[in-house]
Amino acid sequence: MGRSGLQLSALSFGAWVTFGHQVDDSVADACLGAAYDAGVNFFDNAEVYAHGQGEIVMGRLLARHNWPRETWCVSSKVFWGDGTPGPNARGCSRKHIVEACHKALKRLQVEHLDIYMCHRCDPHTPMDEVVFAMNDLIRQGKVLYWGTSEWNAQQLQEAETVARDYRLIGPSAEQPEYNMFRRARVELELKPLCEKGLGLTIWSPLASGLLTGKYNAGVPADSRLNFENYKNFQNRLAGDEGQWKLSCVSQLARLADEIGLPLPRLALAWCLLHPHISTVMTGASKASQVVENMKAIDDLTKLTPAIVQRIENILGNKPVAPPLV
Ligand code: NDP
Repeated sequence: MGRSGLQLSALSFGAWVTFGHQVDDSVADACLGAAYDAGVNFFDNAEVYAHGQGEIVMGRLLARHNWPRETWCVSSKVFWGDGTPGPNARGCSRKHIVEACHKALKRLQVEHLDIYMCHRCDPHTPMDEVVFAMNDLIRQGKVLYWGTSEWNAQQLQEAETVARDYRLIGPSAEQPEYNMFRRARVELELKPLCEKGLGLTIWSPLASGLLTGKYNAGVPADSRLNFENYKNFQNRLAGDEGQWKLSCVSQLARLADEIGLPLPRLALAWCLLHPHISTVMTGASKASQVVENMKAIDDLTKLTPAIVQRIENILGNKPVAPPLV
């Protein structure tokens, strides 16, 4: 993961939407087991996922499997809280960072979190408070690496500067959204920081399933976009931008077919090609999706420079840095 010593599997698996919410424990177990069996060593979670239930389910399953602790890593993320009311039950104050960590350790049934991330940057907490709180947890052995999610380059740079000033440990990884439709932050903004060693654990590589092609003929009943709490995601398919995305997906599906790949694997392999990405975090509501998605690791050779260029031609959205003035 970046310049840290932590080795993450190229493909990893997260609990958002699914664990403790969309799927029952037996499906969650089958997904987790399929991921582990395929070589995944990193499971992602957050206090906010199903108000803490995502961690409870994952913790129960990890404890039941009893896989050697050295063979897997688990993360939690702090910011939105677990539904407990009150101004100190969310954000990135020292109080909430520490209390949320203790709750995550308990829910996940682990002695340490391998990675602990600020799920968003908290405008109400000074950066030195965040950096010190994370370092305190590291010194106490409760957290091994700390990171951020959806922080911009300036915020990450500020954290790094505070850490350097006080001889503390800065963020080892950032967790941004990255997929064929969301590229600029990873490909442009964070690039200089990644070149200095920042790791990236990217999320929604299939754009919540859009890049599987499943939404091109409507919204399937058993899909995320039809799931009660996420129906507002359907708006993403409306309007010019949604139509453009669906049209890209149709063209990408034809290309995938031509080179003998299922579309989800083409989209995942495309993310895996990016040199600065430490791990591509996948999600699934069925074990069969996990089994299929994990095959993307063997598909990289099919993404020749010529095929990558054809993907660029379809997308037409390669981010370009603004000219220096
Ligand atoms: P994806 O974009 O890959 O979407 C996953 C969903 O797509 C699945 O739940 C499933 O939904 C559908 N899907 C996956 N594979 C297939 C397949 N082969 N065929 C058909 N449908 C498929 O990833 P997520 O959005 O789930 O993000 C991955 C992880 O990243 C999360 O679990 C979480 O840990 C993390 N994350 C972090 C965020 C942050 O702010 N830091 C934000 C969001 C996610 P269905 O079957 O229901 O249609």
